[in-house]
Amino acid sequence: MKILTIVGARPQFIKASVVSAAIQQKGMSEVIVHTGQHFDSNMSDIFFGQLGIPEPQYNLNISGGSHGAMTGAMLTEIERVMLMEKPDQVLVYGDTNSTLAGALAASKLHISLAHVEAGLRSYNMKMPEEINRILTDQLSNILLCPTSQAIENLRSEGFDNKNVQIHQVGDVMQDSALFYAERSTKPESVSIEERFILATIHRAENTDDPDRLKSIIDALNQLHTFIPVIMPLHPRTEAAIKALDLVLNVEVIPPQGYLEMLWLLDHCGIVVTDSGGVQKEAFFFNKPCVTARDQTEWVELIDTDANVLVGADGNKLINEVKARYSQRVNDANELYGGGKASQRIAQLLLESNV
Ligand code: UDP
Repeated sequence: MKILTIVGARPQFIKASVVSAAIQQKGMSEVIVHTGQHFDSNMSDIFFGQLGIPEPQYNLNISGGSHGAMTGAMLTEIERVMLMEKPDQVLVYGDTNSTLAGALAASKLHISLAHVEAGLRSYNMKMPEEINRILTDQLSNILLCPTSQAIENLRSEGFDNKNVQIHQVGDVMQDSALFYAERSTKPESVSIEERFILATIHRAENTDDPDRLKSIIDALNQLHTFIPVIMPLHPRTEAAIKALDLVLNVEVIPPQGYLEMLWLLDHCGIVVTDSGGVQKEAFFFNKPCVTARDQTEWVELIDTDANVLVGADGNKLINEVKARYSQRVNDANELYGGGKASQRIAQLLLESNV
């Protein structure tokens, strides 16, 4: 059984690391293709170093440019690799342009496609991620869903009537958070020991909209005057702040490795984010989360009040942080599968090869 895995962005390296280990344990072979979508060494090399993912056999070095140019270049190159490698199964993760390009290439070559994080929806078609995940689900033969909500989303789109496998496997990010938590490392540049606000902002809907970005940055600046805000700054956000001449008056640090990020999550008093993965990680570390988005794919965290959506409303953001700061979030219910997702995925891939 030969699996060809496509990765290209930070969260995909994290997810692939635990699934790759499970694939190896089951004795299947895996070829890793890194599209190069995240080329910054803090967002790519460091993850391969820290996470023990097998070195990618192919590095396509495709980054930057418009969505069309990037996805098109990836499609061409991924198809070339698939024709050479002839895998039994292609494995894609999440919702990036790399995911969509891998899905298109596999389905046109009639290679079985498995999608990790299938069925997630924000119902906001302005998000590039939403377009990528809907199309990838449509092309997949094996839909590996993290939550019961994801299964329901697929049902409501008529997937029960399609000749595909749908499985609720749990969330691989919980597997990796549990596995790597004890190796978490304090970032060198951080002097505060605990109870800071951990902020990450990088989503296009915020960075590409000057009013939204300004409102979020103003709120973080204000919060920093009474609770320290530590913000690992994503290159996209840094560029947008510069272009708009905004002033960011918080403790800015460079994008962090995953082990450093886990330390920050473990020691903070609250998380403010627009990241998908970080919303769940806050929960895994029992930290409250305030999310600067209008929708989330992780609705179970809103339903259990572990997380709250504030959009780009600065006052709401500040008030929710004040109300939730340092409260412990209860993770008693197993919303995300309890850390067994990667084992389940590897077993399903093995069973699919009959
Ligand atoms: N992350 C990291 N370093 C950082 C910021 C985030 O390792 O400086 C991790 C974070 O803990 C999570 C993943 O990257 O595991 C989420 O990635 P991102 O926010 O880029 O993507 P999303 O989940 O929104 O797709």
